[in-house]
Amino acid sequence: MRPHAGRFQTVTFRLTFWFCAVFAVLSAAVFGLVYAILATSLRSTAEQDLRENLIEFAAMYGNRGLAALQGEFDREAESDGPATVFLVLLGPDLKRKAASDLRPWQGVKFIPSDLTKLPPTKVRIWKTTGPGEERAPALAAAQRLKDGSILIVGTSLAHDREFLENYRVACATGVLAMVLAGGALGWLFARRAMAGVERVTRTAKRIGSTNLAQRVPVGREGREIQDLAAAFNAMLERIQSLVAELREVSNNIAHDLRSPITRIRGLAESAVAGPSEPEACLERAGAIIEECDRLVNLINTMLEIAETDAGASRVDREDIELRNLLLDAYELFLPSAEVAGLSLELSIPPEDSLVVSGDPAKLQRAVANLVDNAIKYTPCGGRVLIAAERTGEWIQVSITDTGVGIAPEKLARVFERFYRGDRSRSQSGNGLGLSLARSIVRAHGGEITAFSRPAGGSTFAVRLRTAV
Ligand code: ADP
Repeated sequence: MRPHAGRFQTVTFRLTFWFCAVFAVLSAAVFGLVYAILATSLRSTAEQDLRENLIEFAAMYGNRGLAALQGEFDREAESDGPATVFLVLLGPDLKRKAASDLRPWQGVKFIPSDLTKLPPTKVRIWKTTGPGEERAPALAAAQRLKDGSILIVGTSLAHDREFLENYRVACATGVLAMVLAGGALGWLFARRAMAGVERVTRTAKRIGSTNLAQRVPVGREGREIQDLAAAFNAMLERIQSLVAELREVSNNIAHDLRSPITRIRGLAESAVAGPSEPEACLERAGAIIEECDRLVNLINTMLEIAETDAGASRVDREDIELRNLLLDAYELFLPSAEVAGLSLELSIPPEDSLVVSGDPAKLQRAVANLVDNAIKYTPCGGRVLIAAERTGEWIQVSITDTGVGIAPEKLARVFERFYRGDRSRSQSGNGLGLSLARSIVRAHGGEITAFSRPAGGSTFAVRLRTAV
């Protein structure tokens, strides 16, 4: 493709072209219309003049005779110029009875051959060519008088032609000026409107994998362009945070996989190089199996989060009475709470209907993660409360503990994948529990929030819409 071929495809070129075209057509139409009106009006004025002349000369001939008419013909020809008018009176046999100075009109066939057929008093008008080199058009009119003679008056239309010619030149100049003005205006408007789009394009071209921080400067070309720039910037913002998140997640995955694999390798190495008693080998094999289970668990949880996030609209739905689901969780965790020296309590108003629509296994998993955390992060002697209440069409399930709490600046981060608090390192876990819980709640159209009190203790609240 030729390098500048694409220029004709640009919006700027097209707008300029259309502006030119519209201006040209409109101005040509206006000038053309005025021209047509002018030409018609000039022609009818000329015709009218000839008719009046016929009446005037016929009256003079009737009242004052041939000699007076000849005198009047001479005066007229002298005042208007012999090349401008011709005046003739023919007898019934078409013999000339009186005439103005016809010398300039020599060679012009201004009397049609069928004039003998002209009925009495009828006026006939026709177009002919004028005298001289320019061959300007001329207009003639004839009338048969009462005595059978024929009166002919004619006038050259050279002045009208000149006037119309001047008008045509003025029109052509006007159309050209309008086309140029239209083109310039179209180009200016298009340039102005497209400047914002070009800014977006330039920024998009500058963006590589490393400089996602680039933003389109928002100009003042108009709301649409500003909206485009803002939408583009918002998209960049989102891509930038996704890329950062992706980078962090892959770092975390690498790190979280490396530790257990290193441990597995160490155990396998010591099994090869260490004491070969069956008990020691069995113990190491058991430890290897445990590490492998942890790894498999980690990978399964990652897959489950990805699947839940991707298939938010494909959650299997059935009506679930949350009261039963929470009771199951309470009973499930009661033994581990006792072992940890905690009191686990359940508080659900008996009169509230707590039916939601969703996947019971997934919701069970989310609640279990929250209760498990509450138990994990609450020291011996503390208290964990599982509560639920209904407000309008929303049901709120909250898990409150009197545990170590979460620093305010960490609250927003606890739901990130692989995020683990500093004080959690001593606890088992992989930093995916809350991420999974949030994915599940969101897939059910709900929201999960974390609160923490300065005095210690946290609350995780899940809001779900009721099914009935
Ligand atoms: P894990 O528990 O495996 O570390 P989670 O995703 O379940 O991962 O939790 C992420 C982090 O949030 C935890 O490491 C911990 O620091 C913090 N956290 C979660 N629940 C609580 C809680 N009830 N009390 C205090 N901190 C908590």
